[in-house]
Amino acid sequence: MNAKQLFESFPPAPNSEESATFKPLNRWFCGKCRLLYHSTETAEQCCKNKICSCGVEITEQYYTTCKTCRRIQECQKEKETFEKAQKVETWDGPVFLDGFGYNEGYFDSISDFYDQVSDEEIVENDIKYVWCCDELPVCVLNTEDIVNSYCEDNAYEGFDTEILHGYKELNDAVEAFNEKNKNVCYYSQNPKVALLVYPQEPLQEPSQEMFELEQ
Ligand SMILES: [Zn+2]
Ligand SMILES: [Zn+2]
Repeated sequence: MNAKQLFESFPPAPNSEESATFKPLNRWFCGKCRLLYHSTETAEQCCKNKICSCGVEITEQYYTTCKTCRRIQECQKEKETFEKAQKVETWDGPVFLDGFGYNEGYFDSISDFYDQVSDEEIVENDIKYVWCCDELPVCVLNTEDIVNSYCEDNAYEGFDTEILHGYKELNDAVEAFNEKNKNVCYYSQNPKVALLVYPQEPLQEPSQEMFELEQ
């Protein structure tokens, strides 16, 4: 039994004859590594040797499959998504490639990708495509939704929000707010991939000899 329940201790009042009291808490810890859990079952499983379906021992905590199997599953998933995705030759928007660049895999554009990821890295990792992303505004307010949500709890049934005053002023403010924040965006992966034209042949400066040969 590795699992042990956690208790809170209450020391006795000064000068009292009583001994300390202990109150059991709804937490269990692994007696081996002392990690804390919400149930005795999970604490019990903590430091036990877990075996992956492939037969290999799982050495990391919290996982139910081994590292190799997880990598295979990830590759399989990526392959399926790639097959379903629309392939485009050019893309103006932001792109994503997990594990690269300085911004958790997100790049402002394909040229930004080429700026951050070196030619050697691309060849070494055999990178042939990047995921296209959509730029979505973080916060777009809707006047009607705001008014309705505030009336929901307080108004009587069938209440007509149009009798409220200042609707137009509020709406103007909402529109101004949306306009000012339209460029505060996040990147969301879309089901498209941009195929990279790579390795790019370096542009050759025509030499004097080439001209001479042609003549
Ligand atoms: Zn443990
Ligand atoms: Zn495995």
